[in-house]
Amino acid sequence: MSAVLEKAAAAKEAHELNKLSKRLHRLVGQASADYRMIEDGDKVMVCLSGGKDSHALLDILLELKRRAPVRFDVVAVNLDQKQPGFPAHVLPDYLKSRGVPFHIENQDTYSVVKRLIPEGQTMCSLCSRLRRGILYRVADELGATKIALGHHRDDMLQTFFLNMFFGGRLKAMPPKLVSDDGRHVVIRPLAYVAETDIERWAAHRQYPIIPCSLCGSQANLQRAQIRQMLRDWDRQHPGRIDSMFRALGHVVPSHLHDRNLYPFETIQPSGVPDPRGDKAFDEDDSAECGPPLAAPVRIDRDA
Ligand code: SF4
Repeated sequence: MSAVLEKAAAAKEAHELNKLSKRLHRLVGQASADYRMIEDGDKVMVCLSGGKDSHALLDILLELKRRAPVRFDVVAVNLDQKQPGFPAHVLPDYLKSRGVPFHIENQDTYSVVKRLIPEGQTMCSLCSRLRRGILYRVADELGATKIALGHHRDDMLQTFFLNMFFGGRLKAMPPKLVSDDGRHVVIRPLAYVAETDIERWAAHRQYPIIPCSLCGSQANLQRAQIRQMLRDWDRQHPGRIDSMFRALGHVVPSHLHDRNLYPFETIQPSGVPDPRGDKAFDEDDSAECGPPLAAPVRIDRDA
């Protein structure tokens, strides 16, 4: 490649990365504002597993802390579960080099899980339950007011489909919740961020990634299949993931059939026309099955 072409390619790459950086910080700021995730005076405990997502979360929050109008502190916490081959020095070295306050919690949950779960059965459920309890305790000890997790938009959609396909429930992963012990607020500031953007950003920032397969547990095959399904859809129909994700924030209980969410048993005609009301026999204009109809179609029965 000639020097001119190389220079042009480098300039294009720098431009793309700049756009990516702006997008990531804007989306995290927007999610945080939309759900009031981070407020003045918060101490945010970032759960850092060493994977790309939690690295990106920490990195972006540190930058937002520098620029945001609200004052908040960040503390990174890694739980060393004593999995064989876990490179214990990697995260402390990285965090020291970045000047980030951090805490490493050493708890051998790996041995506990190995002892209690019969060989060949999945260990994830017990492992994550133990991890959750430990992280809640650490949050208390550190005086953290928020616990931040690195789940992103695609994790949330995958969970939605997993629950629908295998659990018979319309349930995704919330951007903000109160923990099951009722004592902590858990936030997911990457809620609006696409996984592909995180992958690109992680490669650019060269985070010291720790593989998540050290425990030897098999990957969640169903989640992997859903992930592939969503990626295939998005390749074939660009924008579909965005549309599905938007849908999770625009729920219409009267057009589902959960009687706990909508009082179907007691609805009555109000007698007042509502332009936004249900046109019960028409196709939904927003559906993609055809252009919206300007007016009801007249069926000429004499033709
Ligand atoms: S993959 Fe391994 S570390 Fe992760 S939850 Fe499952 S058992 Fe625990």
